[in-house]
Amino acid sequence: TDIDQIRNFSIIAHIDHGKSTIADRLIQACGGLSDREMKDQVLDNMDIERERGITIKAQTVRLNYQAKDGKDYVLNLMDTPGHVDFGYEVSRSLSACEGSLLVVDASQGVEAQTLANVYQAIEADHEIVPVLNKIDLPAAEPDRVKAQIEEVIGLPADDAIAASAKTGEGINEILEALVTSLPAPKGDRTAPLKALLVDSWYDAYLGVMTLVRVHDGVLKKGMKIRMMASGATHVVERVGTFLPKPTSVDELGPGEIGFINAGVKTVSDAKVGDTITEERRLCDEALPGFAPSVPVVFCGLFPVDTNDFTGLREALEKLSLNDASFSFEAETSAALGFGFRCGFLGLLHMEVIRDRLTREFNLDLISTAPSVVYQMHLTDGKRFDLHNPADMPEVTRISEIEEPWIKATIMTPDEFLGPVLTLCTERRGEQIDLTYAGNRAMAVYRLPLNEVVFDFYDRLKSITKGYASFDYAIDCYRPGELVKVSILVNGDPVDALSMIVHRDQAEGKGRAICIRLKDLVPRQMFKVALQAAIGGKVIARETIAALRKDVTAKCYGGDITRKKKLLEKQKEGKKKMRQFGKVDIPQTAFFEALKMG
Ligand code: GDP
Ligand code: MG
Repeated sequence: TDIDQIRNFSIIAHIDHGKSTIADRLIQACGGLSDREMKDQVLDNMDIERERGITIKAQTVRLNYQAKDGKDYVLNLMDTPGHVDFGYEVSRSLSACEGSLLVVDASQGVEAQTLANVYQAIEADHEIVPVLNKIDLPAAEPDRVKAQIEEVIGLPADDAIAASAKTGEGINEILEALVTSLPAPKGDRTAPLKALLVDSWYDAYLGVMTLVRVHDGVLKKGMKIRMMASGATHVVERVGTFLPKPTSVDELGPGEIGFINAGVKTVSDAKVGDTITEERRLCDEALPGFAPSVPVVFCGLFPVDTNDFTGLREALEKLSLNDASFSFEAETSAALGFGFRCGFLGLLHMEVIRDRLTREFNLDLISTAPSVVYQMHLTDGKRFDLHNPADMPEVTRISEIEEPWIKATIMTPDEFLGPVLTLCTERRGEQIDLTYAGNRAMAVYRLPLNEVVFDFYDRLKSITKGYASFDYAIDCYRPGELVKVSILVNGDPVDALSMIVHRDQAEGKGRAICIRLKDLVPRQMFKVALQAAIGGKVIARETIAALRKDVTAKCYGGDITRKKKLLEKQKEGKKKMRQFGKVDIPQTAFFEALKMG
């Protein structure tokens, strides 16, 4: 294809504003799929994405479009994930394109992730085409939303396209605007190959797929390529594009987006953001990559049935093939047995992985409370990143603990602003900015991530009846008054329940767990003490009274089969019991205690 007839664009939007549905209509309008093949949301191809209506992995499609000028254009569309945790994948898609289609729900208006995504697009030097979607809805207010786009984002919106992915209205205007408003990519066909490795994932049929955007030169089958950062070399076995079905092509030239199969064994060998060049004609310098994604939230995952441990390892290995941003390593817990410590980009990411393990691999799992990564400074001058509260050194060895802070943007109808500000303050938030646009308020806060991972998002949704939107980015690390609260059962610490919290909250949180456990731990023949402690100092205590008499006694001497059955049952139950301070505690008690985290 002539480079002047290529347009590369991302679709950016707040979640649920209709990004994926618009993508589907564009594919349909360009004849990429027959009506029969057209399922709703072709691009959301993971079950969970479909069910939750969210896009997790960015997807790519090549559209063939004949414009009004009579010429045939190639439009490369990159769908982007809409959720806060996946901001990194958004920036990756943006770096492969020259423009963005900004989709705003005409009945909702600008939301937190609309802003976050637009700012990323502006930073990537994108030309932006605004679209007001869902104008078929009676509640649509295109004029108000246009004004809002100009006021809040500062983007001219006079020419914003009124569209409905439901009725198909405006779809042709969108295609035409892409051709006329976005610049064609630039590149030199005769120069040495220079291509950006945008993404890589494992496909059960095709193996490791590598998504690339060619800048200079030509990528062909049989070529020996070199990944500049990793230094690895591979021979290209197949070159193709998504139409949206993977389809082989002879070559990918400058400005083009497509995939290669190149004998790469694992996804981690194809580093996202790396520059691909030709082994026998290296390009002079690498493309600016992008910062790698690092897990910021960690939790322990343990199989309920210890026999599932190997299954869990295999499942985690499989999932990580497709998702380089998630990490795991083996972990042992006295309370929960053998499991893994896993790292995620955020809470939704964690939920998605947990969900997939349960659903796709049939695993029954217990997870510990999520924890952020702390930077530990020790008195002997050493420092390290703490991923697990259980690994916290003795208090006397610690000189300082730093915790991650985020910059959060919250948009809410102003009637809920009071409770939103209260919530932020309760969570140790510092206000950076507060502005209004129409009847919506935008609050920008700096908050400790530790205060957000617990239930901030759920609380925010509930106090605003679901109307608030939220976006965040890691901002900085700062020293904090942080302590490890241990939970003890008759003097024995229960590792899975320990947590790192701000000193001011230690007592309240410790007491809450003790009270919860009191209902979950079965009564014993003796008194059981449940305590929360910081180091050697007890800060909360609950007691479970001893049983008065042996309730099983009346079974003895009775019917022999009944007695046998009882013993069988007890044996079965024992398997799932864990011992703390001579107290047998069913694993389910920890599960419940953690569930209410
Ligand atoms: P995404 O999260 O931005 O990808 O949003 P989706 O494309 O998944 O759409 C979210 C919801 O809005 C789905 O239930 C769609 O069917 C619906 N939707 C999308 N576009 C329109 C539209 O133009 N009109 C109406 N009425 N509903 C739409
Ligand atoms: Mg979507």
